[in-house]
Amino acid sequence: MMNTAPVVVIALDGVPFSLLKGFFERGKMPRLKQLAGRGAFKEIVSVQPPLSAPAWASFLTGGPPHEHGILSFTERDARSLNWYTPNAAHLRRPTLLQKLSDRGKRVFSMNVPVTYPPGKINGISICGFLGPDLDQGVYPPSEVPFLKSSAYRIDSDVNLAKKDLGAFLEDLHTVLDKRLEIARHYALRERWDLFMVHIMETDRLHHFTYESFRRGDGDMIRLYDDLYGKVDRFIGWMVDNHPEDSRFVLLSDHGFTVLKREIYLNHWLWQQGYLRFTHPRPANLHHIHADSRAYSLYPGRIYINLSGREKNGRVTAGEYEHLRHELTDRLLTLRDPVDGRPVIKEVLPGESVYAAVELTALHDPLFSFYPDLLAVAHPGYDLKGILWHPELAAKTVYNGMHGFDDAFLISTESAVCQRSGSIVDVGREVWALFDEEDGVPA
Ligand SMILES: [Zn+2]
Repeated sequence: MMNTAPVVVIALDGVPFSLLKGFFERGKMPRLKQLAGRGAFKEIVSVQPPLSAPAWASFLTGGPPHEHGILSFTERDARSLNWYTPNAAHLRRPTLLQKLSDRGKRVFSMNVPVTYPPGKINGISICGFLGPDLDQGVYPPSEVPFLKSSAYRIDSDVNLAKKDLGAFLEDLHTVLDKRLEIARHYALRERWDLFMVHIMETDRLHHFTYESFRRGDGDMIRLYDDLYGKVDRFIGWMVDNHPEDSRFVLLSDHGFTVLKREIYLNHWLWQQGYLRFTHPRPANLHHIHADSRAYSLYPGRIYINLSGREKNGRVTAGEYEHLRHELTDRLLTLRDPVDGRPVIKEVLPGESVYAAVELTALHDPLFSFYPDLLAVAHPGYDLKGILWHPELAAKTVYNGMHGFDDAFLISTESAVCQRSGSIVDVGREVWALFDEEDGVPA
């Protein structure tokens, strides 16, 4: 029989499978555990590199990053060497929200990354953390006055974490409380075919506290119990306030691991003689000297300064493969300057990650878009893309970082669970729930 019950997606950014398992074992998050008991609870993987923007874009489009075209937070235009932040306007595939709207379904989306600028959907879209403000980030704009008068905020103040952790944690709760309150308001306002809410505060919490939590610090464990307890009560409320046959999908976009040290790959390229600058404190890609042979963008994406492709390219097509091999070999010898441990786990050629393009196709616009190499670090090393840093490595206020493995999926829908090994699959399977509903063969 056709199932037209609402689909509720609760996206918990950066929540590891192993963390939830630990909560369940300690008797925490009872409502989420209950929901898991109705279906399945499993580990899934993220996308490579495991960042929120490409991962949620994969959920929204049901395809890998090389299909939807969002690879990170920062991209560069090879011809101009200008930086830009990719957003929904750069997506090469339609999203679940658009496709459902086209079918006349009512759709609600709150705080999901890569939904700015908001599409004209059949419902309401409130942008996530990559959107500049509510005025530009909400569709329809008639919802903006209500959100503003409710003091709804897109994100917590991350800069506060660098100055005053206590004040930041307080701010995190303020933003979370408001988000959950406004989500409840919209959930009751009408019957939605798809209701999707994304919670960023879990990821934000982990970035600044994950080390002490994993160490077993008692205060930190209480703090996690507190914040996750709120999320659990919200999940319970959503279950209680939706029809019994509603279909629930809860997932995270990546795992989390303790951040041991940040590694500045552009410093390494400079040290090794591959990268030179025209300014003593280079601030952007225009300050890269024309003699440079390679540079890097976050995280671990390496671009060869290829002639005919890059603005000031000097590496010839004949030198290209040799240089890629040389960089690969040398990156694998990169050691943590403090304890001598190897930093790089593997170096992947761009075409093996983004299997969309023949890398010899110099004039293919896609070729200039993908990195030539992707360095993947051992857990704990964050491969930063900042152009200039005086050291090769440093420990900063960030003590948690994303991981490719250990994301989670909980769903009352057995098909979604059985067929999903990654966030890409989950996006495809959620779409399939609606396909089946409308009698379209899967
Ligand atoms: Zn994060």
